[in-house]
Amino acid sequence: MKYKPVIGLEIHAELKTKTKMFCDSLNDPDEKHPNINVCPICLSHPGTLPVINYEAVKKVIMAGLALNCKIAEDTFFERKNYFYPDLPKGYQITQYQKPLCQNGFLEIPNPKSQITNNDQNSKSKKKIRITRIHLEEDAGRLYHESGYSLVDYNRAGVPLMELVTEPDFETGLEVKKFAEELQLILRYLGVSDADMEKGLMRVEVNISLTGNDGKWGTKVEIKNLNSIKSASDSVDYEIKRQTELIEAGEKVIQETRGWDDSKKATISQRSKEEAHDYRYFPEPDLPPLKFTLAQIEAIKDGLLELPSQRRIRFAKYGLTDAQIEIFTMARHLGDYYEHVASELVASAKDFHIKKGLKGDFPNEPHLERRLHELSANYIITEFPTLMNAKGLEIDDLEGFKISPEAFAELMVLIFHKELSSTGAKAVLKEMAETGFHPEQIIKEKNLGQVSDEGEIEMVVDKVIANNVQAVEDYKKGKEASFKFLIGMVMRESKGRANPQVVEELLRKKLSI
Ligand SMILES: [Zn+2]
Repeated sequence: MKYKPVIGLEIHAELKTKTKMFCDSLNDPDEKHPNINVCPICLSHPGTLPVINYEAVKKVIMAGLALNCKIAEDTFFERKNYFYPDLPKGYQITQYQKPLCQNGFLEIPNPKSQITNNDQNSKSKKKIRITRIHLEEDAGRLYHESGYSLVDYNRAGVPLMELVTEPDFETGLEVKKFAEELQLILRYLGVSDADMEKGLMRVEVNISLTGNDGKWGTKVEIKNLNSIKSASDSVDYEIKRQTELIEAGEKVIQETRGWDDSKKATISQRSKEEAHDYRYFPEPDLPPLKFTLAQIEAIKDGLLELPSQRRIRFAKYGLTDAQIEIFTMARHLGDYYEHVASELVASAKDFHIKKGLKGDFPNEPHLERRLHELSANYIITEFPTLMNAKGLEIDDLEGFKISPEAFAELMVLIFHKELSSTGAKAVLKEMAETGFHPEQIIKEKNLGQVSDEGEIEMVVDKVIANNVQAVEDYKKGKEASFKFLIGMVMRESKGRANPQVVEELLRKKLSI
């Protein structure tokens, strides 16, 4: 590429707090009734005074610590003055000179190295520097109808964090990886629900191209992006658009563009306006903020596990990167898997004792690993259908009837071929209905796999007698006919015959 893209992000996230930033009106993004979570403070009636919501301050510090930032030991709020109908005060309380958090970074998988999140090699990571994270209050919402506009102040005064990155991104994919990881971190920490469709997380892109002469090109801003995919697509589109303009000898105009999802294109919204003079000054109604190092350390010690730490932990089970990613994104499913994993060895031991089997299993690491893999596969492939049938969301395990203990027992039975895969699915379905343990269901429904040669032989003989043509074809060398015969035996046994025994018996009988 002749031109190097220079891309930075500005991301706003509404904090998950009980009340607003400076008053005790509720912070409820799901409130549908307009202008209900309001009071004289957030509507800035004369004579009212704001009070700082400590929970919001703490949450921004938590985000800053998780993103490797330096936390300010002392800082203060400022007024940003401007007039707009969604801003009842006529100014926004924000931080300008001294943000709460500065100089952090977040590592994303480096797309150039083709390596995923779970690779711990530092070369496979790209560091995106974070310039600052500050705390401010959100504005209200305008609804434009034909001929008039409506305003809803429920959101006015809701705590908002603003994160600004250095211009370290070069592709849409990098923007996507960063936004996804940030979203996951904010959710893990309980800082924000970070749902972009609901406007709880809002991403803005700054993008320009640098030529061979090293000169920065004209910067374009992209706003009104309502999903991570739109953000990433708009970046790729804009790189192409600006490259084509430059190559055609035209100029990139400094402007704000929006994203049209149906056209898959950025569209001009407004060209550069006069620079605003916001007349920032320290908020006179609020005291400065001061923290001791001990206070910041205490917040750090209280941080919950981060996605990156969880991936390292899950890698120890020997799962694939894709499986680890699913268990990192769907946290309850991942927790369920871990509970199963902790039961597998005990279940395998019980099975050995019950069956009077010899040997030290499961004290063999590779067998334990295979049990882990088997369990992860079954959870990831079978649970979505089971949960869907119960009307549950994929990560909503409350009300899900299969206990991790019973699930571990089932895995051991499958592992020891006590069940065919068809039988296993039938048992699993029944477990989801009743919550019973697998052995009980197998006994009641007669679902166990048949490995007894005598019993299977009877079925095999019947199938051979009824399928003369297929037998002849096989003897002439048509391997597909053999598969057909296996299928017929399996069908005849209602899927319960052990396929390995079936294959052995068939081969033996047909080679005579
Ligand atoms: Zn209020």
